[in-house]
Amino acid sequence: AKLHYKVGSALSAMRGHSTVVKAVDGVSFDIRRGESIGLLGESGCGKSSMGRLLLKLEDVTDGNINFEGSDLSGMGRERLKKFRSQAQLIFQNPFDAVNPRFSIRATLSEPLENAGIPKKDREAKIIAALELVKLPDPQQFLDRYPHQLSGGQLQRVVMARALILEPEFVVADEPVSMLDVSVRAGVLNVFRDVRDRLGLTAIYISHDLALVRYVCERTIVMYLGRIMEDGPTEEIVREPLHPYTKALVSAVPVPHPDQSHEPLPIGRGAPDPRNPPSGCVFRDRCPKAFARCASDVPKPQTVGNRLVACHLYDGETGA
Ligand code: SF4
Ligand code: MG
Repeated sequence: AKLHYKVGSALSAMRGHSTVVKAVDGVSFDIRRGESIGLLGESGCGKSSMGRLLLKLEDVTDGNINFEGSDLSGMGRERLKKFRSQAQLIFQNPFDAVNPRFSIRATLSEPLENAGIPKKDREAKIIAALELVKLPDPQQFLDRYPHQLSGGQLQRVVMARALILEPEFVVADEPVSMLDVSVRAGVLNVFRDVRDRLGLTAIYISHDLALVRYVCERTIVMYLGRIMEDGPTEEIVREPLHPYTKALVSAVPVPHPDQSHEPLPIGRGAPDPRNPPSGCVFRDRCPKAFARCASDVPKPQTVGNRLVACHLYDGETGA
């Protein structure tokens, strides 16, 4: 079964502003079961909002999101509760994701308790989850508190918590960006390993193409709340088609998870998301822009195995 996502537009209040912006606009894609998709883009491009929308942690104002044939917006309490246990979010900053006053045991017990798992069965599941994320000697962590763990250890605990109810679908939002560069590869390897072992369907959100390449077979490139390009990661890295993807790829000289890359500067800064350009939202940073880019929103075009939303690929350049 496919998970079909179609989001008309979703509004999101920007942090620190009362202004409401369109975080995601006219986005549609399918996820195959067991697939790993990287959501790639600069900060503020709507990728975190998209991740939250997919898990129904944010409300869709227009359009619908489908998960296994049922519309998430119309989901009743019971169904939503089940969905929430099947679909999990791994947060960017592990220290924000846990309650500092909860021991690791209590942190991991909480979802089990909410799911009605009897107390006598919880400890074994907690140990198994910590073993799954390769925390050595899990017993010694149970009575510790988050501040007594390193970032890398705590991110493994957060992963264990996300996985403890055996979800089918996981969204990881920049899960290593707050971690020390030296522990990133280890945490990523755990993520990949667990995903493969459990056959998870995964969305990996990142501004870093090197990390997405390391983790995901498919990449969706986003810019200002829209999908620019969608296709197999290796093809995108080898031969990017969309002008925005071309700029992203040329900014990544050494694709390896130990090296992190800041989002590239393309010309001047990204436009104000409260007031995006007409037509193609990338046009004021695009070296290939032409007249029609200002008037028409490019529709996704099929090019080989890819979808590209750019007028250069719809055969109507007007040239
Ligand atoms: Fe550039 Fe036009 Fe393509 Fe947008 S549609 S990426 S402005 S060429
Ligand atoms: Mg973000």
